[in-house]
Amino acid sequence: MGKPTGFKEFQRQTVPYRDPVLRLGDYGEIFTEPPVEHLQQQGARCMDCGVPFCQSINGCPVDNLIPEWNDLVYNNRWRDALDRLHKTNNFPEFTGRACPAPCEGACVLGITDPPVTIKNIENAIIDRGFAEGWITPNLPEKRTGKKVAIVGSGPAGLAAADQLNKAGHLVTVYERADRIGGLLMYGIPNMKLGKDVVDRRVDLLREEGITFITNANVGPADADVTQISTAHRETKNIDPANLLDEFDAVLLATGATKPRDLPIPGRELSGIYMAMEFLTANTKCLLDDNNDELISAEDKNVVVIGGGDTGTDCIGTSIRQGCKSMINLEIVPQPPDERAPDNPWPQWPRIFRTDYGHEESAVKFGSDPRTYTVETVDFISDGNGAVKAIKTVQVDWSKPQENGPPFSRIEGSEKELPADIVLLAMGFLGPEAYLAESLGLDLDPRSNYKAQHGPFATSIEKVFAAGDCRRGQSLVVWAINEGRGAARSIDRFLMGDSRLPAPGIAMADAV
Ligand SMILES: Cc1cc2nc3c(=O)[nH]c(=O)nc-3n(C[C@H](O)[C@H](O)[C@H](O)COP(=O)(O)OP(=O)(O)OC[C@H]3O[C@@H](n4cnc5c(N)ncnc54)[C@H](O)[C@@H]3O)c2cc1C
Ligand code: SF4
Repeated sequence: MGKPTGFKEFQRQTVPYRDPVLRLGDYGEIFTEPPVEHLQQQGARCMDCGVPFCQSINGCPVDNLIPEWNDLVYNNRWRDALDRLHKTNNFPEFTGRACPAPCEGACVLGITDPPVTIKNIENAIIDRGFAEGWITPNLPEKRTGKKVAIVGSGPAGLAAADQLNKAGHLVTVYERADRIGGLLMYGIPNMKLGKDVVDRRVDLLREEGITFITNANVGPADADVTQISTAHRETKNIDPANLLDEFDAVLLATGATKPRDLPIPGRELSGIYMAMEFLTANTKCLLDDNNDELISAEDKNVVVIGGGDTGTDCIGTSIRQGCKSMINLEIVPQPPDERAPDNPWPQWPRIFRTDYGHEESAVKFGSDPRTYTVETVDFISDGNGAVKAIKTVQVDWSKPQENGPPFSRIEGSEKELPADIVLLAMGFLGPEAYLAESLGLDLDPRSNYKAQHGPFATSIEKVFAAGDCRRGQSLVVWAINEGRGAARSIDRFLMGDSRLPAPGIAMADAV
């Protein structure tokens, strides 16, 4: 423990984002670089409590050794802190930027005071590691001769690839988009995770011996994924049976890519997009420096339906494109400002938060864009096949309907809101069906690939599953947890035993 009285002496101070007025004029990362003394002081707030709940089942899903590196940062031992961090987390530069930090919700100091700024410290350690040139390719000493195919290059696929390569197996990653990274590349926008940061890690993995194949959709010959987004136009199909023949094991890490739709009158009108279609097109245009297929919100009234990270990213992107107005609708009630009695520490606090996109919208348009307990009931046409407005109604969650939705519509609360572009950000319904169908894979009741956390084995011999395609839509840090866990299970399957570490499991998976 660095400074026994640190938590009494210093207040929590998060590393600020860039000024919203300036940052909404570009797609650069929103983060600022904190002075070293700031980080040391914040690290000194860690109490090194006997049971570090930040590492518990409610805290960090990859079991980051948080009190250890807080202490090392306080003592200016950055290189040691980096080594500790890489023991548990393959990609701290992704979680340090994008993780919602369940660890901080479980920090013991958080019972009485604001928690330690764990995420900021994690990000600073890894950024320092890259800046100092401490992170270099590290090739395995021996190769086992076993071959593993990984389908999908999001954080789950990449973490598994890294671990399996470290264990000496030859790993090939197949990705149906034109760039590697899954939602790290086409999903989380540049402002929150620079694409140079993703490429830097992928380049390292490539130098360490992992093979990456893009525009490669693992699916039956009649699967057509070229219309999913502009990043899928060149995709070719690869027969899954060939992978089973060619490789000793196959890991499916295909994500939860099936978006939830809103099948209400007028859904066929133009101007209504799935959030991922919009976000992918924007990122691809920026990376290719070519706006031919941009879905542009410039000078348009934008309505984003659905909150969460995806909704926030649609808000931040639309504002950068120069939208005329911004409305964000949520059907559920606004969360409380403080933890509710049924949401005690050390659980993740389900409270009202203002993310970067909401802050930017308030700066640009004068108010927070979010309205809660609103149901969208109609898309209204401009008479020429395009959406021009939406009809909404306020709902009351205290009056559930018998044999119907768990809320009632409030009579007389109908509204019409202008909408030249509607972005649907209402979550995802598991992986797309075609790969599971062609393999004959069992699904769980939520239509995810059926496999238990721990073994990660599917109903088909030598086929494993990890990440959002197994657990449903989740977080980057959980995808890393699952990729690491699946790698251990595959290593065991191939070699009879494994020295790869086993990551922790969540309460929901433990039962
Ligand atoms: C817009 C958005 C913003 C988000 N922001 C955050 C955030 O800020 N913080 C956070 O922690 N989480 C965030 N998330 C969630 C997080 O990104 C996901 O939980 C995580 O990326 C899941 O990782 P994964 O590897 O399981 O799948 P994915 O990242 O979805 O990767 C799956 C990959 O598999 C590929 N694929 C699918 N099928 C095939 C096939 N048949 N053949 C070949 N390739 C295939 C897909 O193209 C994709 O690249 C966000 C999600 C979205 C949609
Ligand atoms: S990965 Fe997420 S939960 Fe784990 S220490 Fe980092 S911010 Fe916290």
